[in-house]
Amino acid sequence: MYIVEKSLKLSENVYEIWVNAPHVTRNAKAGQFVIIRTDDKGERIPLTISKISGDLVRIIFMAVGKTTHALAEIPAGGFISDIAGPLGCPSKIKKYGTCVLVGGGVGIASTPVIAQALKDAGNRVVGILGARNADLLILEEEMAEICDRLLIATDDGSSLSAGNDSSMSAGATSNRYPAADINSRRRADALASISRSAIPHPIARSP
Ligand SMILES: Cc1cc2nc3c(=O)[nH]c(=O)nc-3n(C[C@H](O)[C@H](O)[C@H](O)COP(=O)(O)OP(=O)(O)OC[C@H]3O[C@@H](n4cnc5c(N)ncnc54)[C@H](O)[C@@H]3O)c2cc1C
Repeated sequence: MYIVEKSLKLSENVYEIWVNAPHVTRNAKAGQFVIIRTDDKGERIPLTISKISGDLVRIIFMAVGKTTHALAEIPAGGFISDIAGPLGCPSKIKKYGTCVLVGGGVGIASTPVIAQALKDAGNRVVGILGARNADLLILEEEMAEICDRLLIATDDGSSLSAGNDSSMSAGATSNRYPAADINSRRRADALASISRSAIPHPIARSP
């Protein structure tokens, strides 16, 4: 059993939990995920590692179905039966120069740990966060502290800078803000748009 040390609601249907799991935190790298089971009979679900602090791993998730709703109900001091990991290929971290990191909605969860790793490797990091509206934006302050420049985009223009995160990335990769690499966690159509914005510039693209 693994203790849930903290449990918070971040926005409509989006929750943050911190689980004590030293076997994960000792080996975790930016971009990896864990597989969680809330109880012995539950299904296993993958969730991205959002941050590490000592023995605690932060997970941010949207309650969409059976297991994520059950996870959202676990209070601080409660337990989950399993947390396996770290799993998956880590993000490619090296010194690129300038990196643009794009996250949308609950997908923003994975960006702080990747942004910090890119910074630690000596990069200038431009973060772009997008959501349907300002109430659904998460981790803005944390990303503002890590990134050299942070752009916010909401579909309805309710945040400080209107636009969508694909058009923002076009701006971030303009000659004014030359970039060396793009690391995006967006859908294929958004990725295609981001890639097109990189074509006029000497930018290495990674998935
Ligand atoms: C590598 C990996 C990392 C992931 N990391 C995260 C993460 O950090 N945070 C996070 O919130 N999710 C993440 N997911 C998605 C997460 O695993 C699923 O949301 C979860 O498995 C749903 O389980 P459930 O039992 O709650 O829902 P289920 O009961 O399995 O699904 C209920 C219904 O919701 C639909 N559904 C499931 N997921 C979504 C969704 N994301 N959006 C809209 N509808 C959905 C299903 O199609 C189904 O109809 C990740 C997935 C993968 C593969």
